[in-house]
Amino acid sequence: VIEASAGMVAAVLAASTLTGCGVAGDAPDRPLVGVAMPTTTSQRWIADGDNVTAQLESLGYDVDLRFAEDDVPTQVAQLEEMVAAGADALVIGSIDGVALKDVLAQARGAGIPVVAYDRLIRESPDIDYYATFDNARVGVLQATSLLQGLGVLDAGGQPTGDPGPFAVELFAGSPDDNNATVFYEGAMQVLQPYLDSGVLTVASGETDFASIATDAWSADIAAARMQELLPLYTGKARLDGVLSPFDGISRAVLGAVQGVGYGTGGLPLPVVTGQDAELDSARSIGAGVQHSTIYKDTRQLAEVAVSMVRALLEGIEPEANDITTYDNGVMVVPSYLLAPQLVTKENYRAVLVDSGYYTAEELS
Ligand code: BGC
Repeated sequence: VIEASAGMVAAVLAASTLTGCGVAGDAPDRPLVGVAMPTTTSQRWIADGDNVTAQLESLGYDVDLRFAEDDVPTQVAQLEEMVAAGADALVIGSIDGVALKDVLAQARGAGIPVVAYDRLIRESPDIDYYATFDNARVGVLQATSLLQGLGVLDAGGQPTGDPGPFAVELFAGSPDDNNATVFYEGAMQVLQPYLDSGVLTVASGETDFASIATDAWSADIAAARMQELLPLYTGKARLDGVLSPFDGISRAVLGAVQGVGYGTGGLPLPVVTGQDAELDSARSIGAGVQHSTIYKDTRQLAEVAVSMVRALLEGIEPEANDITTYDNGVMVVPSYLLAPQLVTKENYRAVLVDSGYYTAEELS
């Protein structure tokens, strides 16, 4: 909170003393907000960039939106350019949570407030607020839906008493993204007792984060790992389920298992979880292929981040609903956590169409 007030004061000073906003021909009183997003390879981040930009523009701000295609030096260079161009605030969906320390120190020196977007920025004192979802809850929901898909838990989340054993493999996200660990820990909190009791088995033996992490959340890397693991199941008990942390990985896993005959000839597809409610995965869920995803309304996240930026630029303290969870190694970052929602074939239309996230036509 002390950091936040320091940032706020600096922001107000910066906003009131700036003579221009770094864009030629710009009116001096239109704040410029730099928005750095990680990649366009996943649909959600494109939507995040668009939503944040549209909402900032509707407040009369200028926006410099950049995507860094999962390349850390590119993102650092983009942020350096934004600082040099006189940005009045930064919204950052980071790639590597620890790589931004120096550029953020430059931002702080220039009095530019920083909002971490969806992903925690680590090891830096120079961030003001964090807008995200309840990431531990995401992991809990993913693991719960894996167990529900297998029939170990009922629809209400209560144990059915089915002793299994069910053969599963686990996938986690990118090690440089703080969220990946938080999702994993949330999921393992639910899965560990079933692994310990033998209701769940993992033929690869790979259950620790480092062994199951997927660099850059890459679908190709996940597909390759799944293909490598599948021979473990040849001629033995089939693979019953896969914990997948992200829809791109889920579809890659499903492609790999379909490649060796799952989903045909009496060999059912494994129960595969996901995250982001990407359109292709929502359709796959409708078709009974991917089992579940986690819906995180990026419009709401954009609203939270934009309201933080606005408050910081107006010298008002942004709203935080969690001031204890997100310790970035240097400070506990005041955060606003939104609620994620589990989506399966049972509720996908109601959740995704009724909320206006997708049209009924898009899903069919
Ligand atoms: C986000 C997830 C997303 C993943 C891969 C995470 O930081 O919170 O929503 O699936 O990155 O892009």
